[in-house]
Amino acid sequence: MTTAIHTELDADGILLLTIDVPGQSMNVITPEVQADLAAAIERLKTDDAVKGAVLTSGKASGFMAGADLKGMGALFGSGAALPEGKSKMAALFDGVFSLNRLLRDLETCGKPVAAAVNGLALGGGLEFVLACHYRVIADNPKITLGLPEIMVGLFPGAGGTQRLPRLMGIQPALMYLLQGKNMSPQEALGFGVAQAVVPADQIIETAKAWVKANPNGGVQPWDSKNFKMPGGPATALNPNFAQTFVGGTAMTHVNAGDNMNAPRAILSAVYEGAQVPMDLAIRIESKYFAKVVADPQAGNMIRSLFVSKQAAEKGARRPKDVAPAPTKKVAMLGAGLMGAGIAMVSAQAGIEVVLLDTSIEAAEKGKAYTADRLAKKKTPADKAQAILDRIKPTTDYADLAGCDLVIEAVFETREIKAGVTKQTEAVLGPDVIFGSNTSTLPITGLAEAWSKPENFIGIHFFSPVERMPLVEIIVGKKTGPAAIAKALDYVAQIRKTPIVVNDSRGFYTSRCFGTYVQEGLALLGEGTVPALIENVGKQMGMPVGPLAVNDEVGLDLSYKVAQQTKKDLGDAYKGGPGETVIEKMNELSRFGRKNAKGFYVYPEGGKKYLWPELVQTVAGGLAEDQPSAAEVKERLLYRQLVECARCFAEGVLETPQDGDLGAIFGWGFAPFTGGPFSHMDTVGIANVVATLDRLAQRHGERFAPPQLLRDMAARGDSFYAMAAKQAA
Ligand code: NAD
Repeated sequence: MTTAIHTELDADGILLLTIDVPGQSMNVITPEVQADLAAAIERLKTDDAVKGAVLTSGKASGFMAGADLKGMGALFGSGAALPEGKSKMAALFDGVFSLNRLLRDLETCGKPVAAAVNGLALGGGLEFVLACHYRVIADNPKITLGLPEIMVGLFPGAGGTQRLPRLMGIQPALMYLLQGKNMSPQEALGFGVAQAVVPADQIIETAKAWVKANPNGGVQPWDSKNFKMPGGPATALNPNFAQTFVGGTAMTHVNAGDNMNAPRAILSAVYEGAQVPMDLAIRIESKYFAKVVADPQAGNMIRSLFVSKQAAEKGARRPKDVAPAPTKKVAMLGAGLMGAGIAMVSAQAGIEVVLLDTSIEAAEKGKAYTADRLAKKKTPADKAQAILDRIKPTTDYADLAGCDLVIEAVFETREIKAGVTKQTEAVLGPDVIFGSNTSTLPITGLAEAWSKPENFIGIHFFSPVERMPLVEIIVGKKTGPAAIAKALDYVAQIRKTPIVVNDSRGFYTSRCFGTYVQEGLALLGEGTVPALIENVGKQMGMPVGPLAVNDEVGLDLSYKVAQQTKKDLGDAYKGGPGETVIEKMNELSRFGRKNAKGFYVYPEGGKKYLWPELVQTVAGGLAEDQPSAAEVKERLLYRQLVECARCFAEGVLETPQDGDLGAIFGWGFAPFTGGPFSHMDTVGIANVVATLDRLAQRHGERFAPPQLLRDMAARGDSFYAMAAKQAA
């Protein structure tokens, strides 16, 4: 077996344990790490020549990043063979308890153990550190220490929920546990999570000096008789203790709408565990951890938010045989809201930008956007200047010479887009890759203006560009591999997450997100209480209610897009049930936030509220029979799911990974589900079909499941099983 922890005994009898997992750039907890640590603990217990130990990392990248999330896949499925006579939960408990037990063995080995932390210690990495009796951190404010498991639906399952509260107090510990927040070395020192912060080259000698000076230091505070929980005793008789959990439960409810398993499990583990001795406390923690792991939620979240995201960013969808094509100089056509944002993120990535608009004032204004944002972010002046120096505003196409990528974000009009496309080709020639940021116009049609349509592609950003993490790459009928590779290399340069989809009206994200808004309008048009629609939208994990989001986008824009689509599709156009609502609002010049009146009223300096006359105006009053919250949720959710499934059936999407990433990062689809495709797989395709059939019968064809879903249900198939078969 390979060695993951190197051991070295010095003349003072101090065993230096250096974690250095082979083949990994960053230490993660592997079976080898656990086996080596178990062997080291055994030596500490039995070898009289060993007086104590120092645990450190052999990697310059940091101390340890925690569990190997990719390797944890097996834990989540039911794939692991169950030992004879054990229930699934009991086997799972044994699996997750082993590391917890191991770290408990470390802290009760009877000899002093110090951690010398050279860099980041996250998740299980920090839990290793917390199980040591003395903790020295390198003095570098960039070092992050934390238990961020909650971000992927997990929770710290190696003693973190028990040791952190006993070190820093329950209330502050809950803040870190429930928010996944990191702390700096200085903060750790202040909270008693670290005992010393020293220059990086002195961590080991400081740790060793402590071990040498404290031969009896191998007892954790919570194992001593006089232990007092910081912040007051953990008993129901202490009003602060009770209040902390009342507050924590309320906060969790507000933040996660009671949709996530992990926050509740954390609260329970801390509440119950804090009241009992550590040996029992870690068993309580493992019980809740096993419950969280047994539910598909954590597995779905890890797959989408971690595994698929990383894979996409590393070029999972990039054509393999095209040489790397990083962009050096980008031609940015249009310096409006989107062009200005795209110029900013490009310049920040070190790319030269020629920012072209119809007037120099407009182009300069686009550049000023970057100056403004950098000033707001308090970017140091020299760094900001270097970024600004890379943006050249112009109106002259000749200035585009030398650009190796074009991105177009002019007005959403075919003729104007065709005009700038041709003018650009006249300067750069058709071999340069041309990307359009159109949000609605099919790429295949726009590509006709570029003589080599294989070099034309959609590069669809979201607003505000500098904040939104996703870029949707749209492949037109004639788009070739070189264009896909170039676009993906550019997205990697600006450090965003790409998905790759095929051409279709609204592409993937706008098309599916639109259904959420449309269904909200349909409910409103039927006379449903508007607050019910809005609150259910948020409760199901969407960032905002459907009416609020429509107000943000602009009800006039929704009207224009509907009119344009009607014109384009002619007889094939099927208006949504919410269309009359939008027409009515436009008749009344209620355009949304932009003119301070839409579905909501926006009083100057005050908080927005739902327009009191809304239902009367658009639906003639409240419906007598109001739907239940569950019915509203089902409609808002399944209307999106069926559209996502259609995108897959029609080939707009090629992989469920693209579908899940696009939904979560593009339109904020409930992240705790892992995305719509993970959600459909979890519910079971046959159940999804049954629900859609029922909804279609009641509310119309827009819910009718595509044949693909019926075929999958008949085969007992799932989206990710199909993807795995295809990848194999
Ligand atoms: P905008 O109106 O803010 O900016 C468009 C800019 O293009 C203006 O500065 C205008 O002067 C300039 N322009 C117009 N005609 C031009 C020409 N012939 N040559 C050079 N410049 C010209 O619009 P926006 O919101 O930035 O949208 C631009 C594009 O991005 C549209 O295609 C839109 O559909 C798409 N898009 C917008 C969003 C969004 O949220 N706003 C999101 C994704 C995609």
